[in-house]
Amino acid sequence: MTYCPHCGWPDAEPFQIVSRQHTTEGQTVWSRCTCGSLQVRVLDGACSRVVARSRPAA
Ligand SMILES: [Zn+2]
Repeated sequence: MTYCPHCGWPDAEPFQIVSRQHTTEGQTVWSRCTCGSLQVRVLDGACSRVVARSRPAA
């Protein structure tokens, strides 16, 4: 289990889903953390992993 490095929110519980996009590799989910950091997740079957995240909102 991983956590947001900025605020410690668990990555397994996305605070807000921004958008979902279907790709050939599965589903890409953009979510926003409580600290304002945008996260890019890839849903691969039942697994969800954070592949990128931005800095928190100012
Ligand atoms: Zn955060």
